[in-house]
Amino acid sequence: MAETALPDTSSVELARRGLMFVLSSPSGAGKTTISRMLLERDPHIRMSVSVTTRPMRPGEVDGRDYHFVDRATFDRMVAEGQFLEHAEVFGNMYGTPRAQIEQALNEGQDFLFDIDWQGTQQLRQHIRVHVVPVFLLPPSLDELRHRLKSRGTDSDEVIEGRMARARDEISHWDAYDYVLVNDDIDACYHKVRAILDAERLRIERQTGLIDFVRDLMRPD
Ligand code: 5GP
Repeated sequence: MAETALPDTSSVELARRGLMFVLSSPSGAGKTTISRMLLERDPHIRMSVSVTTRPMRPGEVDGRDYHFVDRATFDRMVAEGQFLEHAEVFGNMYGTPRAQIEQALNEGQDFLFDIDWQGTQQLRQHIRVHVVPVFLLPPSLDELRHRLKSRGTDSDEVIEGRMARARDEISHWDAYDYVLVNDDIDACYHKVRAILDAERLRIERQTGLIDFVRDLMRPD
């Protein structure tokens, strides 16, 4: 498929602060696929790798999908203030490590976050303007169950737990700035792309604007 980012043929590159692009959804609503598409096609955005106490699933890689730690380590990291946000999800702990993110944001690096609504709220509480929260809805709950089953990674009991959790997660849709129904992955990707492109142009992020405009207005 052709790249769908806005073609940026401009030779003027202004300094910019990075943004925190949050993609939340109940599991199975397509956020993993959309995230992968974004990361593969956009060199300016990088995944924030969370820390979790949940056991590793087949195919997952420590340090790539998550940093897998035990509960004692997680609790120590909380006590030391190492997380930008953390929350309990499905009985396991998840957290966003602070290290590397804050500094990289200042240098113009964007981050993609796959975190739940609790984490999104926490992030927004202290750095609201830099957080762009997007929620993906499945077209129906039947479709969601079907997608979860076809992944083949979880038992029926776990799937039913995830369905219950999905209803709960969906009920927090209004905590987001953007809400999309993912009934077609390419169409959804285009919309996510449009949000990211527009948000990058917000005046708050374009830290190089003042100098640029000052030069622009300098008398000949
Ligand atoms: P999973 O275990 O299926 O990878 O993720 C379960 C849920 O935990 C997903 O809804 C995901 O968005 C959420 N999650 C993953 N990492 C974090 C994190 O660092 N913080 C918070 N608050 N939620 C997370």
